[in-house]
Amino acid sequence: MPGMPLVWSDDHRLHVPSAEIWLGVRTPAVELPARADAIRAALEAAGHPVVAARPQPDAALAAVHDRALLEFLAGAHADWTAAGLHDDPGQPEVIPYFFAHPGLLGPHEPALPVATWARTGAFAFDTMTPIGAGTWPAARAGADAALTAAELVLAGAPAAYACTRPPGHHVTRSAYGGCCYLNNAAIAAERLRAALGGPVALLDVDAHHGNGAQAIFYADAGVRTGSVHVDPGAGWFPHFLGFAGENGAAPGDGANRNLPLAPGTGDDAWVAAVQELAWWAGDARALVVALGVDAAAGDPESPLAVTEHGFRAAGRALGALGMPTVVVQEGGYDVAAIGGLVLAALEGIHEGQQEVDGG
Ligand SMILES: [Zn+2]
Repeated sequence: MPGMPLVWSDDHRLHVPSAEIWLGVRTPAVELPARADAIRAALEAAGHPVVAARPQPDAALAAVHDRALLEFLAGAHADWTAAGLHDDPGQPEVIPYFFAHPGLLGPHEPALPVATWARTGAFAFDTMTPIGAGTWPAARAGADAALTAAELVLAGAPAAYACTRPPGHHVTRSAYGGCCYLNNAAIAAERLRAALGGPVALLDVDAHHGNGAQAIFYADAGVRTGSVHVDPGAGWFPHFLGFAGENGAAPGDGANRNLPLAPGTGDDAWVAAVQELAWWAGDARALVVALGVDAAAGDPESPLAVTEHGFRAAGRALGALGMPTVVVQEGGYDVAAIGGLVLAALEGIHEGQQEVDGG
């Protein structure tokens, strides 16, 4: 039996951030092409067939994102370059400096700034998510990959994996950040809901809260969003969101679930939390897994301590739901380990689905 298909685009390599601006300082970028290349190598070696991402219509992106955000992202780097900002002040990538903070605006709708150097602050919520010349085609290809994986599942595959890079789970309907530009998992969930009807479950196991899907579907019972992540109350990104009391708003009351965990949490409690989310997803018609593997013990970006064994066990719990399943890549920054961690999670999902099939 062939392995779960790996949906892929070489265009991810076009996004090569030169740095992240953190506390005003240029720090080394960690969301780099080697991540996805390492995942592909591990999955291909294990026999997973590679399927090329197919181009998808803009309407599929606009189903979860504002047109204004999509138009900004598509043109941001060309506008930046045309405004001469590469040479003066010498910034080659699109970076915000001034933000449309709700406390600044009060009751006023923000005007879209005329100045190119100010416009970014209408859409970005952090300084760590630079837009370079190849960022948009790479992000667009990631959304194509997630949608292609959804199509494979709608055509009858029990599960499909989209190796999306850059990741997407921090992006809301109208704002980007957290090294993410398009919310690939939300785009896939919306595609499944459109085809199958609701509810669809979107469960996020990245080490950081899936604030993007939470925001997009917060008042929507048709997509149940759940996230297990390191507690923002212990000082972790995205800081402002991801607390246990965020449960959705009418008519999506109860359709959002957050399970924040203490720094240092390892396999037992982390897998139990994933299992709890799986049970909570209940009778959804399809499942999207936002698979970050940065909860791993060796990952430089999170304080969780999950092992390969834990990722396999979590995969088994998700696969045992027996739902058509789209897996979308999110974080994971230990390049030496990332391939094995993703492979373990995908094999776990396959094993879980087999157990259901076997009765
Ligand atoms: Zn993460």
